[in-house]
Amino acid sequence: MLLCGCGRWMHTEGVEEGLQDAGVATWLVRSKCCGCGLSVGVEASPDQAVTLVDRLLWTDDARSVLERMPPYVEPLVRQEVEAYARSAGSRVITYALLGEARRGEPVAWDPEAEARLTNVPAPVRAMARLELERTAVERGQPRVTVALMEEVRARYFGLSGVKREA
Ligand SMILES: [Zn+2]
Repeated sequence: MLLCGCGRWMHTEGVEEGLQDAGVATWLVRSKCCGCGLSVGVEASPDQAVTLVDRLLWTDDARSVLERMPPYVEPLVRQEVEAYARSAGSRVITYALLGEARRGEPVAWDPEAEARLTNVPAPVRAMARLELERTAVERGQPRVTVALMEEVRARYFGLSGVKREA
């Protein structure tokens, strides 16, 4: 936690995940003093930055994923991920932790989607499965459906096409 010059503890307002030039992770912690109103931003490595945070907090990145989820899913995901963070001893919920927490609970597959997955060539099947589940999680969609599959497949093959050309 941060102690303000006026002698009061500062309240953490937000955490931004960032990268330095060398690709080293760095967080910007925004804190405010409720007493005198002073606001500060402190940039530090995640290990150091976490000590400045005064409560369980979502980073801006993780929160933006949560906020894009449908209103009926959001509270459930919030509760579940916060419980996961507490059990993992993490005070800051990062984008990565959110993914980890969400993957802990397997995404369900519509039988039709599952059947279609077996038509995907074996070398890319695992990747396709992961990509589909990740997309479902990001959307707060509890199941992988054929519709989602069609959409991701287009994107997936689009990407590999670009790679082949490069
Ligand atoms: Zn103050």
